[in-house]
Amino acid sequence: MPKTIHTENCPVCQRADIKPYLRCRDNFATGEQFEIDICNACGFAFTQDFPAEAEIGRYYESPEYISHTDTQKGIINRLYHLAREMALKSKSKLVQKYTASDKGSLLDVGCGTGYFLHTMKEAGWKVDGIEQSAEVRQVVKEKFGIEPYPSEYLFDIPAASYDAITMWHVLEHMEHLDKVMQSLHNILKDDGTIFIALPNKVSRDAEHYKADWAAYDVPRHLWHFSPDDFKLLANKHNFELKAIKPMYLDAFYIAMLSEKNKKTPLASLIGLMAGNVFFVRSLIHKKKASSLVYILKKQR
Ligand SMILES: [Zn+2]
Repeated sequence: MPKTIHTENCPVCQRADIKPYLRCRDNFATGEQFEIDICNACGFAFTQDFPAEAEIGRYYESPEYISHTDTQKGIINRLYHLAREMALKSKSKLVQKYTASDKGSLLDVGCGTGYFLHTMKEAGWKVDGIEQSAEVRQVVKEKFGIEPYPSEYLFDIPAASYDAITMWHVLEHMEHLDKVMQSLHNILKDDGTIFIALPNKVSRDAEHYKADWAAYDVPRHLWHFSPDDFKLLANKHNFELKAIKPMYLDAFYIAMLSEKNKKTPLASLIGLMAGNVFFVRSLIHKKKASSLVYILKKQR
């Protein structure tokens, strides 16, 4: 039997008041079904019985995994690459705006192919990255001359090492939620800032697509946040939530993938149009955006 992680108590508030929420399909790698459960007390949701860290590798094995490759095939991928340029600019602007020093030390956890690290390095920051795949670390080294550390490094970093820590769509993949949050608190300088981007399960697009919402992405996404439950997690780990910023472009990408999950004809085109509706709505209701960046400081 493959080893799976069963959760009985809410990972955020610890209560055992859990009920089934949605049943989702792994549309990326295996087609297997997974249940998402929700906590009645705090509203946090999580993928139930997800594969343990040692066994989840095969759920990441698909030629389409574009976070980790640079292929430029298909309309979704082309738009993704265009969107990446825009996203890089807005991420680096956000970091510069919310950090005390404008050229400090930065750790990007889950740096992937290293574009953000490279952008910040060019802007004068001292950058480190963490990336679990040895293959991807090699790509970053060859492409940008930056050598990311493997995952375990996160727990070996000396206290108060960084002015800024970024996690762009990474925390939802990490099995040891509390341990990671504790470590982030430890390695951040006292006046440092953390930027955590996460899909938003109370977004307009999540409400619209329900189980087909691409950002549930089971079983790779273990945790499913909203602004309210993320704030509880942040406070539990002695962080103050300073600001929440929408990542507007994610609405388009997620809508295209969600239409594909629904097997809609012309999924990319329909998804782009739907994404536009979600995008416009998120301009008015920012906390309804598809993805949100949470900006955290240490509690004083
Ligand atoms: Zn809870």
